[in-house]
Amino acid sequence: MGKYDRWNAFFAGMESDEVVLTLEELEEALGSPLPPSARRYPTWWSSAQHHAKWAHHGFVASPRLGEGVVSFRRRPSSSPRSRPASRAALTTVLSGERLILLGCVAQKRNRPALAKDLYVSPLWEKRRAYAEASGQPWAILSAEHGLVQPDQVIAPYDRSMKPASALYRFAWSRSAADRVIELCRRLGIDAVELHAGSAYVEHGLISALEEAELLVSWPLRGMRIGEQLSWYDSVLGQESASNPAPGRSREPTSSVGEPPVIVEMREIGPFDYRWPDSTEHFDYGWEGVARIAGQRVSFRHGVGRRHAYGADRARTVTWLGGQPAVEGVAADDYARTRALLSLLKAPDGSMIRDRAQAPEGYSELQLVDHRSEIDAPYSRSGLAVKLRADDVSGWLRHAVLRRDSLHADAVAPSDADLRSEAVRYVPEAEALPTLAKRKIAEALVAFGQATTEQLRADGGEVEFPEDAAANAFLRESPFAFLVGVICDQGIKAERAWAIPKELHRRMGHLDPLRIVAEPEAVYRAFVEPTALHRYVNNVPAWVVSAADRVLTTYGGDAGAIWNDRPTAAELQDRLRAFDGIGQKKAAMAVEILERDLGVEIREMSGSDVAFDVHIRRVFHRTGLAEVDDMDHMVEVARRIYPERPGALDGPAWVVGRTWCRPSFPRCPSCVLSEVCAKRISYGDTVRGV
Ligand code: SF4
Repeated sequence: MGKYDRWNAFFAGMESDEVVLTLEELEEALGSPLPPSARRYPTWWSSAQHHAKWAHHGFVASPRLGEGVVSFRRRPSSSPRSRPASRAALTTVLSGERLILLGCVAQKRNRPALAKDLYVSPLWEKRRAYAEASGQPWAILSAEHGLVQPDQVIAPYDRSMKPASALYRFAWSRSAADRVIELCRRLGIDAVELHAGSAYVEHGLISALEEAELLVSWPLRGMRIGEQLSWYDSVLGQESASNPAPGRSREPTSSVGEPPVIVEMREIGPFDYRWPDSTEHFDYGWEGVARIAGQRVSFRHGVGRRHAYGADRARTVTWLGGQPAVEGVAADDYARTRALLSLLKAPDGSMIRDRAQAPEGYSELQLVDHRSEIDAPYSRSGLAVKLRADDVSGWLRHAVLRRDSLHADAVAPSDADLRSEAVRYVPEAEALPTLAKRKIAEALVAFGQATTEQLRADGGEVEFPEDAAANAFLRESPFAFLVGVICDQGIKAERAWAIPKELHRRMGHLDPLRIVAEPEAVYRAFVEPTALHRYVNNVPAWVVSAADRVLTTYGGDAGAIWNDRPTAAELQDRLRAFDGIGQKKAAMAVEILERDLGVEIREMSGSDVAFDVHIRRVFHRTGLAEVDDMDHMVEVARRIYPERPGALDGPAWVVGRTWCRPSFPRCPSCVLSEVCAKRISYGDTVRGV
């Protein structure tokens, strides 16, 4: 099997015509790192290259290497939409025996329930009514669980397919397809009807089902949610309730009549918000979480100033789930009332002028005529809500009513959706109690100790690279170890730690004196095919600089960096003085030297966790950390496990590599399963190698 053959299956399963993948996602799909040239040269992504497996499936790659992404667009002639054959069946409804599959939705009850009762949005109600009226067997495509039976009890979950990475969708599709095929076989059915969004079905689900010779239909393909609601209404023989006549307010949703309840709120200082084309400054505000129609939704309300209606006026913006929902501008009497105005809008976006047209929720708020409150050119003729700048509940109420009236067909985003859209400023997870964090830390340490003891009992020793000779070299040569530390960046650890031995083979030595005397030889050895590292400019320079520092500061013996029983903190400082060694590498090296190489460290309480991608993911998901920030994570480890914060490093890294993978974390078998908060989606934003 060739190195790039795994991309064949990956692109073969892609149903969508366009997808943007990060270089890390492409590496994960490939199962190995990309060569350095893939990150440096756009031509590497040309369809003419031998490794261009995407081209076999009709895609053209457009790399944006500066952003670390590649977009793949299917050539029109090879679009699956234009493929004849079974695709024609996709937009028709099948008749006869078939399995109906309904996509899950974000709005859910807040307690475990039968799967069919767990979801609560209008779209779900229609989907379920359709499935039940059909008399056919049906099941649910859950973004979290894959295939779920309607009568299966499941707990509410945050995962949503829309913000999920392409890799997660592909892996999810493979797993869900297997279970759908198995169910069809068991039921003796050879047709499947899909009622789910493209994120569920266009990443390999349809092709896998078709490969299993199931006839697939997706009757609502390409329809907006409002169109889907109408479709269900017409099929179910009901009058459409989802398309109110223009100018009429829509039927109240579950949130109307149910004012938002602020669950937590805090005052905040000045902040900036990035609009698509500008940045706006706000002087102060409030942020927190509100319960809206059964969902916990993050909000922010900011107060600033802007030139409007011929004067410098106070202004507010209220965000729901990170999205700006309503804006306010100071009324002429602001100095006395501190009140601002915000226009009311009809479902078609036009201004509401008649109180009879205002959605019923506004009856609790003060409605005024905009023009009589702002006497200025261009003042609008229409109804506006008038609220004090600090009436956060009122602004939230207005924001929810606006959202409901303008996006009647929107499925309310889950907390996870909201977080992913609101990363700019929305506060991260609520902190776990210290005791719960301590339990997680103890479970990590216990796992680390058990692993080490088992290894010793088996008479083995920790291996860095897989190659035994490369391992022995690291243990024998302190300078080789130092080079290994320097190389452990941006590539898999196993590959990084194998570099010193290979560098030694290519140069014929790893002598600091000769390295300093012949730096060009180091560069040549690094870039010789196959290049040793992704960073072929920086890493050789760091190695030469390290050799120089070892000569000038440690008498040419790298072992002298740690052979005088330093404290962990001292050793970290010494290591960080080397070019190319930052917090992550220094913290990791201290732990390895003490734990695996038997170096005597006088005091380990000053050790730290490394800010490594696996550790960050595990810290986030377990609930140990609330923010993906180096200082925060280091501080958490120091606070929760002061006796040796760095002891959390190795086991967290192993958990991240073994169970807590970016996609499909294996919680049931994970050693932390019992103590982990399982904030799965919090790991989604953690990127890196
Ligand atoms: S795999 Fe699951 S249980 Fe284990 S750390 Fe990750 S989220 Fe927690």
